[in-house]
Formats: sequence, structure tokens, C-alpha cells
Amino acid sequence: MSATPAGTFREESGRLAGDLEHRRRIASAMGKYETARGPRQGAFLSWELGRQALADTKWEAVNRLDEHLERFEKEATARGTQVHWCRDAAEARDAIVGIIRRVGARRIVKSKVMTSEEIHLNSLLESLGFSVVESDLGEYIQQLKDEPPYHFVFPCMHLSREEISGLFHDKLGTAEEHDPEALTMIARRVLREKYVEADIGITGANFVVAETGMISITENEGNARLTAALPRVMISLVGIEKVVPRLGDLALFLPMLATAGTGQPLTCYNTFYGGPRQPGEADGPEEWHVILLDNHRTELLADPEQRDALHCIRCGACLNVCPVFRAIGGLSYGTTYQGPVGSVITPHLRGLQDWKHLSGASSLCGACTDTCPVKIDLHHHLLHNRRNAARERGGVERWVWKAFSFVMRRPFLYRMGMRVARLMRPLHAALLEGGMLDPVRAWTMSRELPELAEETFRERWKRRG
Ligand code: SF4
Repeated sequence: MSATPAGTFREESGRLAGDLEHRRRIASAMGKYETARGPRQGAFLSWELGRQALADTKWEAVNRLDEHLERFEKEATARGTQVHWCRDAAEARDAIVGIIRRVGARRIVKSKVMTSEEIHLNSLLESLGFSVVESDLGEYIQQLKDEPPYHFVFPCMHLSREEISGLFHDKLGTAEEHDPEALTMIARRVLREKYVEADIGITGANFVVAETGMISITENEGNARLTAALPRVMISLVGIEKVVPRLGDLALFLPMLATAGTGQPLTCYNTFYGGPRQPGEADGPEEWHVILLDNHRTELLADPEQRDALHCIRCGACLNVCPVFRAIGGLSYGTTYQGPVGSVITPHLRGLQDWKHLSGASSLCGACTDTCPVKIDLHHHLLHNRRNAARERGGVERWVWKAFSFVMRRPFLYRMGMRVARLMRPLHAALLEGGMLDPVRAWTMSRELPELAEETFRERWKRRG
């Protein structure tokens, strides 16, 4: 397999696009999603006005991010929460390992935390000898499979129940069982023990509320609640863009996130965490740490053209409607965030040079932009990334396109060019075989050179009078 992200992407996406069973499964899952989402969306007085309201609120939050985050810190620390500001993955990992070592923890349970995938937390903690267990069912299955999440909302949507049953049989020694409910109960029995044993619970957050110093977590399994409530220390690893100004904003964010993400009116559990256990309270963690993770988000914030990509609430809807995601699946991307939004933000979070190829993973149909509940102009951002990559690339390709543009704007040169191209046609195969086109193979391998017509339109026009 090719070692570069672009090479791996090309190989994996090519392989999965030709895997008809994989495509059938994804199409079937997405069909169910669409059936659920349609009526739910119709239940809003005006989904479009709702989208505009969310976009306006996120614009307000992101354009005054510093003020809102400081307000959050002030309110949260007033209730005993410890807030850590981390510039990058290394600082976040150090902060988390520091907490774990200080409290003498060994066993860690996690609810779904995409930011932890971003900083490769599990592999680090395991390499240091800590036990880490994912408590979200899909994430737990992916952990047993030793694979990253396939989709950041539906982590194992590509697996059949037979495959999950086989995995449980191999890893947990359970009997073959194809009933989804029975499979869930197997995982539940294993995970219940893990919550009780764990010293530390690590969560993410769907929203960070500046006004009250709280975080909000939405989920369907109740695993995040147990992760937060049972261990004696709670750590929440949160991207700084998750902030909203007011608690009241969530009155619209929560139902729209659930509808766009899973087609539900609301997710089953919506919990607000406002601090560690207070005097007189019966439960909750003794310590609560919130890690505010930048990890290149402020660089995206500094880009006025694409700053609104920080408005994303990770509903996953753009993945669900994307024809490219449906064809190549989530693992091909090789990124924490897949699909259109992943293709937009990954070059910012992990470097344009290595991840620019993702901008091409789009038909530019605009379905992602149309479906996004916070109105991020995703397909235009993909075009912006393509443009930025071309600018960075410079060199030969830039000159080739300049020459192409020069010729295309001059009919005489264009006609000459077509004549030359036809004369050269027999040479094409020979050049390919002789390796003369190797320098541009990366460009030609995914594109077919169309056959040139025997005569041009002009020639035909002239001939037919
Ligand atoms: S970009 Fe929009 S549609 Fe895609 S995950 Fe984010 S909020 Fe959802």
C-alpha cells in the first residue's frame, strides 16, 4: 500500500468503489436515514429559518470566540472545574497524561470523543500501559476491530450483524448471535463492568455554553452519562469551536442536530455538565477537567474565506448525502472527520500539502451544502482548497494551465493545436509505453484521454455547407 495519504486514499477509494456489497450496505443505511429525516425535518415550522438561526448563532460564537471561551472558563472555574488551554495535540496529550498520573489512575473509559481520535489518544495511553475502553457501542466494536471510526456519527455502519457477531465471538468468546438486541446486550454486560472499574472517564462535548460554564452532550445509549458519572475523575476534551453563547441557544441546536444527524426529534439523552460534585451532592466526579483544544482551529479562524467551517456541529448529514462518501466509505479518507466536512477541514488541521487530494473527493453537486443545518458552504470551500493547493503547487502544472488558457482564448492557436493533437495521437500509446508520460502519471491515471474526433466541428460545418 502507498505510504502517502494521497496514495492510500487512491488505493482504498478505488478498492471500495468497486466493492458492490459495501456500496449496498451504505446505500441501505442511508436509505433508512433519509426515511427518518424527511418527516422530522418537515415537523419544523421552517427548517430554512432554523438553519439561518443556527448559522447566525455560530457566526456570533466563532467571530467572538475569545470572549466566549473566556466567559466559559470564568463560569466553569467558579464551580470548581479545571480548564486547560491546549494549543496542539502534544499539549492536550501532556495535559491528559499529567492528570491521569497525578490521580494514580490505571483504567479509563471513554464515550465517543472525536477530538481524541484527532490527537491519537488511545494509542498513546495504551503505549503507556493504561487500559482504555470505548463505551459507545459503535466505537467499542471499532476498537475491538482495531479500526478507526468509519463515520463520526455511525462508527461501524459498514459492518453486518454477522461480522459483529464473529468479532464478539473472537474477541469476547461469546456464542454466535445475530440478533442486534442480543449483540447489544453482550456489549452492555462487558461495558457495565468497565464503568464501575474505571478511575477516569473521558468525554467530548457537543456544545460548550459560555453563559453558564457548562457542556452539553447528546447521545442515544446513555454511555456518556455513565462515563461522566461513575469514575471519580472526568476529563472532557473539546474543540474550541464547540462554543455557543447562551444556554437558550440549545433550544434550537439540540433538535436540529438530532434531526440532521439521525432523523430523531431529539437524541435519547441530553445532559448538561456544570462542574464536579458539589458539597452535599450524592454523585458525580470529584474532579472535572475541560481540555480546550485548538489544534490549528485558530488558523482556520484567521481565514475569513473559510472561517465558517468552524460552525460545524458534527451532525454527519453532509456525509450521508455525499455520493462520493457513499461510494468510497469513511475509512478511505484516512482522517478523523470524513466526507465533505472532513475534506474541507483536514487540509487546515493537518496540512494542505499532504491532504489537498481530499478536495478532489467531491462531485461538487452541492448536496452537502444544501443539507448542512448550519449552512456551511461546503462545496465552495472544497473549490477554495483546490485553488489554494494549485497556488501552492506552482511549478509545471501552473505553466501548463497558463499555456492552455492562452491557447483556448485564441481560435487560431486552438485550431492549430487540434491539428497537432490529431497528428500526435498515434504517438500517445507509444509515449505511455516508453514511460515518457511518467512525470504526469498521477494526473493521467485517474483520467481517460478522450478519443479525438476524425474531424472537428468547424471542419464538419464547412464540409456540410
Ligand atoms: S458540515 Fe454541516 S452537515 Fe456536515 S457535519 Fe458539519 S454541521 Fe453537519
